Amino acid sequence: MTDSTQPPANDGSLNSNKKKGIINNSSIDPNKILPFTYPWAREYYKQGVANNWTAEEVSMQRDIELWKSEDGLSDDERRMILWNLGFFSTAESLTANNIVLAAYPHVTNPECRQYLLRQAFEEAIHTDTFIYCCDTLSLDPDEIYNMYLTVPTVKEKDEFVVKLTQSIFDPNFKTDTPENIQKFVFDLIGFYIIMEGIFFYAGFVMLLSLMRNNRMVGIGEQFQYIMRDESIHVNFGADLINTIVEENPEIWTPEFKKTVSETIQEAVQLECNYAADALPRGILGLRSDTVQDYVKYIADRRLERIGLETVYNVESPFPWMSEIMDLSKEKNFFETRVTEYQTGGSLEW
Ligand code: FE
Ligand code: MN
Repeated sequence: MTDSTQPPANDGSLNSNKKKGIINNSSIDPNKILPFTYPWAREYYKQGVANNWTAEEVSMQRDIELWKSEDGLSDDERRMILWNLGFFSTAESLTANNIVLAAYPHVTNPECRQYLLRQAFEEAIHTDTFIYCCDTLSLDPDEIYNMYLTVPTVKEKDEFVVKLTQSIFDPNFKTDTPENIQKFVFDLIGFYIIMEGIFFYAGFVMLLSLMRNNRMVGIGEQFQYIMRDESIHVNFGADLINTIVEENPEIWTPEFKKTVSETIQEAVQLECNYAADALPRGILGLRSDTVQDYVKYIADRRLERIGLETVYNVESPFPWMSEIMDLSKEKNFFETRVTEYQTGGSLEW
């Protein structure tokens, strides 16, 4: 809704009829998407569309054979797989709920909202992935979907993220004061930087490493697609956070930056605990201390991305992870199925 009492401000931008203000902006019409004020948001939307995939396209046949064979997987491998299915199965809906219920109402810019809707759809695909895994591997859904309550290292991660969002889930919450904008940014950091940007990455590296050893390649391929989506979610989230800070520089105080950095370091500790718990003895090519180094390496990248100083300064023990992230679908190294939605606009029915 446009607030007609406010004259359109000329802030010197290209679209001088639209006042900049990515959140809580009463001077823009959220239904009027053109011209774009934040073209980067539109770019992320297009990248998301180009990466389209669905869970059922990925064959689980080899995974089913391996999972059901008596001696195909070690107990430690099974534990690692179950811990990750348990964490991700509920974490995906937690993220989706936060986007729709907490972020969307306050982000009034139309191209950002278009991206948030796309992201919400992708979270539905991710949720579907874990339904598909449970169905195909005949897992006990009560066991998997209760792991966020029964496995302490999973529970601690989820509770940590939920705790960060308490104030903005108040129905009367408004991003109208610097203090509340800070709370909102803190929530976005909780979900985009910590949940999607750090808490997902020990799981990604564990399952993709297993896939590189030619084990559970269906789950591995699905995690590869999820990771590609998540890396765009994290980038969108970081640009959203950085833009809010740029437009409200008074919130980015030394104290607030310190709180954010310390919160991220607490999250890194929880993720390291989780990695040690999922992988108590190490399996082929993978030990929990190297996974923990990877988590620290990733956390430094997240800190940098939102303009904070790095803390850990470690090398990535898994340089192949960054290569996987850039793989386009047809170059997937197991060549299980070749499909690509980016067809240059030509659709064949
Ligand atoms: Fe997701
Ligand atoms: Mn996501």
